[in-house]
Amino acid sequence: MFTTPEIVVLLVIAVLGHVMALMWHLADRARWKLCERTIYDLPIGEDQIKRELRNSLHAPTHAVILAAFLYLGFFKSMGWLSFVYSALLTTVWAEVWHYASHRAFHLRALHWIHLEHHKSRLNSSLTAISFSFTEKLVFDIGLLGPLAIVDYVFGLNVFGIAAWYIGYLIINSFSHANFELKSKDYNRWLGQMLTSTTYHSLHHSRYTGNYGLGTRVLDRVFKTEWDDYEALYDRISGERRPLSKLRERAEPSAQA
Ligand SMILES: [Zn+2]
Ligand SMILES: [Zn+2]
Repeated sequence: MFTTPEIVVLLVIAVLGHVMALMWHLADRARWKLCERTIYDLPIGEDQIKRELRNSLHAPTHAVILAAFLYLGFFKSMGWLSFVYSALLTTVWAEVWHYASHRAFHLRALHWIHLEHHKSRLNSSLTAISFSFTEKLVFDIGLLGPLAIVDYVFGLNVFGIAAWYIGYLIINSFSHANFELKSKDYNRWLGQMLTSTTYHSLHHSRYTGNYGLGTRVLDRVFKTEWDDYEALYDRISGERRPLSKLRERAEPSAQA
């Protein structure tokens, strides 16, 4: 039914979110140098960790849905070329689909789907895998369904799609740490295009804005980016002064 490499990659996708969560938990406890630039200097309650741990049971959904598409005969193309274009196409589509579905989940009628993820106003090592089952289901079907249609025309490669999932599980785990990992000069170059941990932390603490997954592009196009993000990034990463209130804004002079 599945080849051995397919089983291996599906298993990696099934457990990677938890492996990353465990790694951040240990890094935080051992106070690795990496975790020094705290974003919010506020405590995270035991209740949040218990709730996130319960929600994390849904994390292997990604692997189950991808396995279902594979079982139905999709994404069977092989070779390096199909690997590269499948990974690139998945990356672009995931960015667009994530932004569109994330904005939709913030509409009153659909917010119940996204509510569990947003109960965490501060991010812990487990927030990246704390979602409702419905949210994961909608996200994965919306991601893989259109790719399955493309697969009819240009055969797609499951390992290219899996490479995106693996990258997503690692980067999304970074994006939900309560410390900034990127260099203090990040926003001068790469950070103009790509998001950071601080970027997504503001989405959780303020509940709206900064909807993008890996890039700032769609937030800028649709004017949904917080205008004090870069000032706060400099404060957290450059000056190493964490925020002390969930809705704290950058000082007016820092925004000029
Ligand atoms: Zn949201
Ligand atoms: Zn989040």
